[in-house]
Amino acid sequence: MKPEFASTPKLGFGCMRLPLTDPDDQKSIDIEHFKRMVDAFIEGGGTYFDTAFVYHEGASETALRRALVERYPRDAYTVATKCLAWAAPDAQTAKSNLPTSLERLGLDYVDFYLLHNVGGERTAKFDEYGMWDFALEAKERGLIRHVGFSMHDGADALDALLAAHPQMDFVQLQVNYLDWDDPVVEARRCMEVAQKHDVPVVIMEPARGGRLVELPERAADVLRAASPDASTASWAYRFCYNLPNVLTVLSGMSNLDQVRQNVADYQANRPFSPEEQRALDEAVETLRGMANVPCTNCRYCVKDCPQGVVIPTILGLINLELMTENRDFAKGLYSWQAAPGPASKCIACGACESMCPQGIDIIHQLEVAAERFE
Ligand code: SF4
Ligand code: SF4
Repeated sequence: MKPEFASTPKLGFGCMRLPLTDPDDQKSIDIEHFKRMVDAFIEGGGTYFDTAFVYHEGASETALRRALVERYPRDAYTVATKCLAWAAPDAQTAKSNLPTSLERLGLDYVDFYLLHNVGGERTAKFDEYGMWDFALEAKERGLIRHVGFSMHDGADALDALLAAHPQMDFVQLQVNYLDWDDPVVEARRCMEVAQKHDVPVVIMEPARGGRLVELPERAADVLRAASPDASTASWAYRFCYNLPNVLTVLSGMSNLDQVRQNVADYQANRPFSPEEQRALDEAVETLRGMANVPCTNCRYCVKDCPQGVVIPTILGLINLELMTENRDFAKGLYSWQAAPGPASKCIACGACESMCPQGIDIIHQLEVAAERFE
């Protein structure tokens, strides 16, 4: 890994869930509270701040200018922001994200610029709008220091993207101990692919949207027995801190206590002992045992589906709800991950079931998903 990446502190500040003065208004960021969070993070040795054009409907970037950029020297921090091109109506709008982000942030350049949420059908929009070349040209013009992309897709898709775009400086991936061997997310294989391409990884979702902090009791008990004083969050972060080829690990922090706790856990970080690793393996096994749809994401079922139902994604979300015991969480993910082919589009033709080597009752499972998530 390049020295400039290797020296980045492994705890990064995700600015997508900042404290609000009005819980119903995503733009009402509590700036004074956020300033104290920024101060505690920097005092604790942090430097990497991650935002995006769309976080808090644009207010995250502006808040970062007020809490960080206007209060600290430029060499005290790095800023990453992102362009959600696939949600833009045309190329011109997508490309206008960068100057708008720079203006909101009050910066002449961003350290890291990401094409936001590449993967699946969204990739075509980045291609169509010429966003890859646009970002590289902006880098040449000095507006961006490092170009990368965030991705929600499997390892083969990542391999193809990195082969097609070898100029990428880094990539941002969903990695955590629950998704490590998950057949849909394929976090382990994705990390191997990134390493193969010699591209460092910014880890997102290290605690799976907070689900690995609020673990079901039977999994939390396993971890508590191995290390009574360690928080459940610390297990999730340590898992990621100690992986190879990691640029930083993002934590979406919402209050000062979380910043202090994360900084303390980060400073106390050490690799798992063999006993701790065994306990974590057991906790993961316990969680996986709570999932009951044995889909391996072989994808044989999707080829002949006349309705384009995203079957393995939907089955994965059914399992996620069971493992996390949290329907709202899975439903929130379903709202965008299943959008290209939701369960309710199924016409029960049966083509998928005849292809499934696991013998899964797909039609029934889709009925369950439609009832729970739509
Ligand atoms: S049964 Fe439903 S999901 Fe399966 S192939 Fe037919 S339409 Fe697609
Ligand atoms: S064929 Fe069966 S196991 Fe394979 S992805 Fe589809 S549902 Fe999952």
